[in-house]
Amino acid sequence: MVRTKLPGDALWNPQAHMPTAQAKRLVLTGGEGAWLESSTGQWLLDATASLWHANIGHGRARLADAAHHQMRKLETYHTFGRFANEPALHLADRLAAMGPVPGAKVMLTSGGSDSVDLACKLARRHWQLEGRPEKTTILSRVGAYHGLHAFGTSVAGLQYNRDGYGTSSLVPETARVATNDIAAVRRSVTEIGPENIAAIIAEPVIGTGGVIGPAEGYLQGLQDLCRSHDILFIADEVITGFGRTGHLFASHRWDIQPDMVTMAKGLTSGYAPLGGVLVSPRISERFFEGADAPIFRHGLTYSGHATACAIALANLDVIDEEGLVEEAGRLEDVLAKAVEPLRDHELVEEVRSGAGFMAGVHLHEGVNGDAIAEACTDAGVLIRVIHDNTLQICPPFVTTDAEVKLIAGTITQALDAYQY
Ligand code: PLP
Repeated sequence: MVRTKLPGDALWNPQAHMPTAQAKRLVLTGGEGAWLESSTGQWLLDATASLWHANIGHGRARLADAAHHQMRKLETYHTFGRFANEPALHLADRLAAMGPVPGAKVMLTSGGSDSVDLACKLARRHWQLEGRPEKTTILSRVGAYHGLHAFGTSVAGLQYNRDGYGTSSLVPETARVATNDIAAVRRSVTEIGPENIAAIIAEPVIGTGGVIGPAEGYLQGLQDLCRSHDILFIADEVITGFGRTGHLFASHRWDIQPDMVTMAKGLTSGYAPLGGVLVSPRISERFFEGADAPIFRHGLTYSGHATACAIALANLDVIDEEGLVEEAGRLEDVLAKAVEPLRDHELVEEVRSGAGFMAGVHLHEGVNGDAIAEACTDAGVLIRVIHDNTLQICPPFVTTDAEVKLIAGTITQALDAYQY
């Protein structure tokens, strides 16, 4: 079959059924606050903050200026060995001071998957240096999404992201356990043997797996279990970091002090690819002291990319100056109220809200979630379906109360008009 070539015919989208993606491509060309403009001139309300990251909203000249200024000075220089650049130094200090890990050291990465890979590698390296090389297993949770690099793929709690790469997981020695069930974690730890477990990794609020908040006392319980069994606790705050739960980090909100915290997305609000890992002194100290200090043989060309770090610093300034963390906390209630009536809709299985400025509307199994998302988009609200037929709501922090209501109202209308 000869197909007419379209512009961008060569683009292979991530996570896409390509025949559908090419037939229904939606091209975004501009953005302002919580709104996006498409190539057809339609304005769409960004109900998902792109992929959970456009926290300060689109089209901020200040971040463009920060990038411009840094690029004119020095686009970047690598940070391997003794090299550094000014924005990376400032950003590391600032993240260490604002994060939930006292005395943290900060490694910078290119994004969330990189951060997860780094944290899992460092967990294993830590135990190797402790003289306990058998502590390698990374325990994660059913429903978890930790990116799609080798470690993220291997610790994924969404089976379809793990399948198809051979008969074992890409990285050996991973295991999964049910979410929000401390007794299950305890059983799993006993079964595998704590002497074999390097770390437990958990999103404080599961994002892509359906927007699932932690049960009462659960994260504390997980931390206690880790501490009592000499297991490192990694909080994956790639979505929850930088205000999404009404606190700078979800670890602050649920009062935990993980050994490592992975971050990305809201660190730059998507204005540049950048991630990082906060590392506690328990792990970092030996790497910083003495002539025989070991070297962590990990790093990326763009670790601490100067322009990305300058953008992150400007993003953090905007969050501070505009009080956007507090605003996200206030909007959490506005959103929870707006989606409340959807609980009674006949096509809705469950509404998940109240764990940050985000919500999941879990549709009944037979309902075509993609058709609902498409109807919302046609009506001007850009929404998407995540795991388990759930509509993701996760707007930018600059969304108004009226726009939050518009999101809930548009979903309701799409459900009302839906025909099996
Ligand atoms: N961890 C979590 C919790 C995420 O939600 C994501 C991305 O959605 C990642 C890691 C991976 O981040 P990235 O896509 O920047 O590699």
